[in-house]
Amino acid sequence: MAASRTIPSSSRPNSTSLDLKVEALPGVGGESVKLLERLGIRTIGDLLWHLPTRYLDYGNVRPVRHLIADREQTTEAIVGAVGQRRTARGQMMTEVELIDPADMRPSGVKATWFGRQFIKERFQPGQLVRLSGKATWFGRALQLSNPKVEAADAERVHTGRMVPVYRLTEGLKEGNLRRWLHTAVEGAPKRSPVVDEVPDGLPATIRARRELLPLSEALKEVHFPSTEARLLEGRRRLAFDELLTLQLGLAQRRARWQKDAKAPKLVAPDREFERWLVGLPFTLTEGQQRAISEIRADIGRTIPMSRLLEGDVGSGKTVVAALAARIAVTSGAQAALMAPTELLAEQHFRTLSSLFAEGGPSVRLLTSSVSAPDRREILGALADGSLDVVVGTHALVVDGVTFKKLGLAVVDEQHRFGVRQRTTLREKGTDPHLLLTTATPIPRTLTQTLYKDVDLSVLDQLPAGRQEIRTEVRPPEALEKVWPWVRQHIADGEQAFIVTPRIDKGDGEDDAPSAVATYEELRSGGLKGLRLALLHGRLPSKERDDVMRRFAAREIDVLVATTVVEVGIDIPNATMMIILGAERFGLAQLHQLRGRVGRGEKRSYAVLVSDDAAGSERLAAMTERKDGKPLDGFDLANRDLEIRGAGEFLGDEQHGISELRIVDLSDVDPRLSRETAEEADAVLATDPTLEQPENAGLAAAVEALWRRYALA
Ligand code: ADP
Ligand code: MG
Repeated sequence: MAASRTIPSSSRPNSTSLDLKVEALPGVGGESVKLLERLGIRTIGDLLWHLPTRYLDYGNVRPVRHLIADREQTTEAIVGAVGQRRTARGQMMTEVELIDPADMRPSGVKATWFGRQFIKERFQPGQLVRLSGKATWFGRALQLSNPKVEAADAERVHTGRMVPVYRLTEGLKEGNLRRWLHTAVEGAPKRSPVVDEVPDGLPATIRARRELLPLSEALKEVHFPSTEARLLEGRRRLAFDELLTLQLGLAQRRARWQKDAKAPKLVAPDREFERWLVGLPFTLTEGQQRAISEIRADIGRTIPMSRLLEGDVGSGKTVVAALAARIAVTSGAQAALMAPTELLAEQHFRTLSSLFAEGGPSVRLLTSSVSAPDRREILGALADGSLDVVVGTHALVVDGVTFKKLGLAVVDEQHRFGVRQRTTLREKGTDPHLLLTTATPIPRTLTQTLYKDVDLSVLDQLPAGRQEIRTEVRPPEALEKVWPWVRQHIADGEQAFIVTPRIDKGDGEDDAPSAVATYEELRSGGLKGLRLALLHGRLPSKERDDVMRRFAAREIDVLVATTVVEVGIDIPNATMMIILGAERFGLAQLHQLRGRVGRGEKRSYAVLVSDDAAGSERLAAMTERKDGKPLDGFDLANRDLEIRGAGEFLGDEQHGISELRIVDLSDVDPRLSRETAEEADAVLATDPTLEQPENAGLAAAVEALWRRYALA
């Protein structure tokens, strides 16, 4: 990947060997070029950034007679008799007798390779070779199966050291790739190593202050470590660069969002603001009060706000957003609230309409299902400023919507919206204050690194009187007892959600429960006679909304659905959440789903049904308790991150950056995170635009990083 280098070619002195095509390396050509290209490797520079995924520890050298079973080690021996035979399964096997060089007698140890004709061609009987691998007992003799081997007088590339293991592609031999990298890193006869030409973009002052290896040395150690300690030093240097670049990039993006931008000052007089609070149907929680004060302070300035409001499901983010919108309107500006789904937009519209009931701002709903004449009218009113607040899906931020004066944009459930939508908003010719909300708690390690371009407000408690949702994990066999229990509660006037991982059979190749099949089965079986409805993303949105409306109006008892009910839907009368195939959901998602119930007064339940009911660590976290209480969204998010890693946790659609090259986002070293944050701040304090010559390397690295994640 050209863009995957820390230092892009533009920052390099003109021709270096790094820009040469891989063919320029001895031994690379023909078919190998195509194979390497499949790994994104075109130039020698690309090759150098193809880093090992792990290492084989072959540094432990023992005489052949003293090999130990089941441990990785290296030995030297003389090639004895070579035989070939077919195994019981018909596979060709090459067997080599190993002679002990100490006494020139058979050592009793054999080396075997499956189907590896070339061993016979490469090594002659009588030759001294070095072999690395695991020895296993085979009958009463030790045997090295598929060991790596090279001539004893050759340089240590595949044996006798910590040996790098690389990601491959079909057809590419690991030995070849390792050999080419060795040439790039250690050089070849009469050739200085290419790695020495890698320019170091990190200012020397930082490198000295943090005692970091020079970049080329770090790369050498990472590919072919001289010791384990040096390997760690090498990795630390590469990780340092990566985190520093990320922090600089995010800080700069924020600076760009704020640079020259003039957002309207949005202020509400205290007396008026207090009056709104008194008019609310409840008292704000402490967290809500804190969040709205932080927002008020931000939007009262002309620097555009960029704030993430983070709060567990049901923590009451909507009212905070509504208050902020009201401040905007009082100040003569407009506000927009965008939700990820039409259903949710409708719900927000209802909430805002009732919160703004008398003498409050005017509010309209704009979704793709609004009729053409209505849409024209709303667009007109937004353009001439006669409409104060618009609620809609992200259809709002695309195509032909203009505002007279957009002061505040609220993006609900932010992780569903990418960085790109933020930019689109900006392109509307206004610089609105931006409030993002999310119910997916973001673990601390990630807020320190990935979310550096926003400020955080956290709602860390639920409104008083919220009850705990009783949660149980059950195997599918238990369902025959669950259905009568559901019936009973429905007889008492309650409602249930049943959620499945997929819509229909045939979506995905496995046997996960599907909404369609579950609905059909229950309708004529376990829940016969009740009012069931089906809800999934493939229904036309009109129909979906209709089903949801009927469920809210209690015309439906049981809703069989996919995760379309995941986000934000508020049905206080629903008390049962039954999740089938629960092991297929992430913890954050399960927590979100569970949050759909327990919104009213009645006792509520979540039943997580899974084939792996007993074994799943993830599902167990859903019933775990801490200080006498269930784990909250933050605990669960941390756990999810630990169990699944950052790539899975963040997902591609949730954030452009899910996996870095060196740093594991789910396990960032706090010291490294702190050090890079300090250096990033220091650099930007004196050179916010990275224009000074000593920071040219950093600027180029930031550019390359954004290019790599296509977020430029
Ligand atoms: P979320 O943070 O998940 O978006 P909502 O804004 O939908 O949560 O709020 C969930 C429910 O809590 C709503 O019914 C709302 O009216 C109610 N609510 C919000 N704030 C409070 C509060 N301070 N006291 C009591 N109920 C509240
Ligand atoms: Mg919400």
